[in-house]
Amino acid sequence: MKQIAAPKGWAQLLLTPPATPWAALRSVLAAGPAATMQTLIDAGLRGRGGGGFLTGEKWRITAASDADVKYAVANGYESDPAVFTNRLLLEKNAQAVVEGLAAAALAVGAREAFIAVRAEYTEAARAIEAIIHNAERDGVLGANVLGSGRELIMSVRPLQGSSMIGEETVLLKALAGKRGQPEQTPPYPSTVGYLGKPTVVNNVATLAAVTWIISNGAAAFKQIGDPAEPGTALVQISGSLTNAGVMEVPTGTPLAEIAAAAGGPTKGATIKALLIGGPSGGFVPANLLASTPYSGGGLAAVGAHIGSGALLAVDQSVAIPELAAMLTRWCADEACGKTIPCRIGTRRLAEIGQRFVDGLAGPQDVQKLHALAADVADSALCAHERLTPSPLLTGMRYFEREFVPTGVVAEKSGAVVGRSE
Ligand code: SF4
Repeated sequence: MKQIAAPKGWAQLLLTPPATPWAALRSVLAAGPAATMQTLIDAGLRGRGGGGFLTGEKWRITAASDADVKYAVANGYESDPAVFTNRLLLEKNAQAVVEGLAAAALAVGAREAFIAVRAEYTEAARAIEAIIHNAERDGVLGANVLGSGRELIMSVRPLQGSSMIGEETVLLKALAGKRGQPEQTPPYPSTVGYLGKPTVVNNVATLAAVTWIISNGAAAFKQIGDPAEPGTALVQISGSLTNAGVMEVPTGTPLAEIAAAAGGPTKGATIKALLIGGPSGGFVPANLLASTPYSGGGLAAVGAHIGSGALLAVDQSVAIPELAAMLTRWCADEACGKTIPCRIGTRRLAEIGQRFVDGLAGPQDVQKLHALAADVADSALCAHERLTPSPLLTGMRYFEREFVPTGVVAEKSGAVVGRSE
């Protein structure tokens, strides 16, 4: 795991520790909760964990509750086993995450806050613990935060389990020692969260951005990246690109530029697609890389999503149906089993995918794939199920001839199935 140096001119705000530790927290105490949340809304900061909600608005919901006990949680649990962006962030810039979480807790009125990390992230956990220990010793955190009279107890919570723990409601259950299955939302954790109390949950990258915004101002943040989703994102680059690792990328950067910044294709490789978003991500073919920006909106337009932050470069030696079927199988295996359409539907999707790989698929399988994918997405209790069809659907959309070499086509409605040529 390493950081890939970004090209000159690309803002690097998440992986750069604050110039003056705790300056942001002092600003939060001076400005007060309402002004702090307004600053985040003015900055246009959206959650980096996939939901894309405005962070300031999310905090406002928890802040508005008159519950006697509230919590703040930093989600550093990485669901995708091939992604280490949270880990790198916590090892390089735990200060910004701790400070952002403290800001969240003080803004919403929480007296207790947790940073959840994968249990194997021992180095990251140690870095966080050292910061918290020193902050309590110096009166920055603890019974009297910077002499404000506010109390804030913070701790690291290592967690171990399935990929589902990354989902917000599962994370809160795992923290409480309960079975890790998602809950129906609403109510959202903002109102009914950890131990049934209002809980603000933010991804660690979101919290690092909070610290930067409070220190540098909303206007400066809005200048970075895509104006509709400003800031930067940590992208995990792997596959057939020269440099593998984590790169901090301004939102809105075209995918082709990211691939070039990662050194371009490995020797002898020709990139035929990027898989964006992890195991339930979408394939973006080579001819769309220059015109597709790395942003929630830009990726959604081509059937992909930011997801886990993974960018996997796929070269000409890879059979798209094989990769798509394998990813679908992984998603089916990881489904928690709580709801039947997901438990059974994702398994059937994986079987359809395998029939394409084995050359046993017929026209009815194209039709079934689209119909089942629509059912699975419509009935999803959580994002895991909703997004599981993405590799097969985008694979079929952009690489149809690899799935059905004879040119069998089907309308999505399933009403017409015929042969093209
Ligand atoms: S949709 Fe799938 S992963 Fe989500 S709760 Fe239901 S069974 Fe579990």
